[in-house]
Amino acid sequence: MTRSKDPQGQDWAEAAGQCVLCGMCSRVCPTYHLYKEEGESPRGRVVMMQALLAGETVGERWREHLDHCLGCRACEAVCPSGVAYGPLLDGVRARFAPSAPTWVDRFAAGVRWWRRLGPLLRLGRRLHALPALPGVGRPPLLPPQGRWARRYPAQGPFRGEVTLFLGCVASLWDRDTLVATVRLLRLAGYAVRVPPSQGCCGALAWHEGREGEGRRLAERLLEALTGEGPVVTAATGCSAHLREYGAVLGEAGAAFANRVCEAGSLIDIESLPVRWRDAPLRVALHVPCSQAFVWRQPALYRRLLEALPGVEVVTWEAGLSCCGAGGGRLLHEPEQAERLRERWVAALRKLQVDVAVTSNVGCRLHLAPGLERMDIRLLHPLALIEQRIDEVES
Ligand code: SF4
Ligand code: SF4
Repeated sequence: MTRSKDPQGQDWAEAAGQCVLCGMCSRVCPTYHLYKEEGESPRGRVVMMQALLAGETVGERWREHLDHCLGCRACEAVCPSGVAYGPLLDGVRARFAPSAPTWVDRFAAGVRWWRRLGPLLRLGRRLHALPALPGVGRPPLLPPQGRWARRYPAQGPFRGEVTLFLGCVASLWDRDTLVATVRLLRLAGYAVRVPPSQGCCGALAWHEGREGEGRRLAERLLEALTGEGPVVTAATGCSAHLREYGAVLGEAGAAFANRVCEAGSLIDIESLPVRWRDAPLRVALHVPCSQAFVWRQPALYRRLLEALPGVEVVTWEAGLSCCGAGGGRLLHEPEQAERLRERWVAALRKLQVDVAVTSNVGCRLHLAPGLERMDIRLLHPLALIEQRIDEVES
């Protein structure tokens, strides 16, 4: 069904063969910046992949170099020869070096049944509400859980119906963003359908070379999100993968991919029927790799934020495309992820902002702990936009 399933590896060899070894990709590669080794550059990895696909034996170290790759696809965006680095990496990992699933992968796959966690989560909230014990503090607050309605009607003039993809991690750890997204979409005139039994999009499994698992999760998601209207998401890591479902599920996947869009692309700040707070706020904008190099819409949330009264947007950049969380590397290469995060945290420290935003839940979960000492909240841009609503006009 997919090129990466080609038993001869023929197509991947062709894709890798497009590389002209110019090295233009190295300057944008975070792992090359970190390790300063050719094997840690996109060009070095393409050469290794060519050797693997040609059936040559390569040293043990090649696997380490491939494992370090974040799949950020910054290299793909600057490649003059059009090497489809991201899909190539996925295909080669699937054939030669699939990563073992982590407990988080297992958890994410099982989140399809997340409603069964309800009693546990409710108990967690009750425990958290108890008085703190001296010297011990409160039990940690477990992720909030609540039921979604099947459909939320539009609040403004009706513009259509959309289907919200919750995302397995976001549905548990980023519910505030999802709630804000639903509110903004409704104010923009969209009815929002939230089909039950949604699970994981399978991005983690797919990018780590576990194709069978990635495909199973994708098939289940297609069953859950049947219909014809737009499928909106509020996590660019997920939406970037959904956008490329053609590679996972062939024609059916490609048809589904055509329905997928980022929730922010349906929001027009000027036409929302609200009065905005106008207190000055300086915001650092982090643009995830998935937003910049897969969606290729790096300015989407900047445009929305800059349209808000009182908001000044500064770009949060660290001379690196990826924060370190990319493609599950946060779980498999925690030390590398930490080193990359330190650079982002140091860069943010210089910006003197009130709040920071990023549109991918994975980046947010990875970066947020680094920001704790700076007392800077890290939100999804839509969550921040929703918080700037002062009053809804009747
Ligand atoms: S930029 Fe493209 S062609 Fe040049 S070395 Fe990198 S992958 Fe190869
Ligand atoms: S995907 Fe990112 S980390 Fe991997 S080789 Fe390309 S630029 Fe480097």
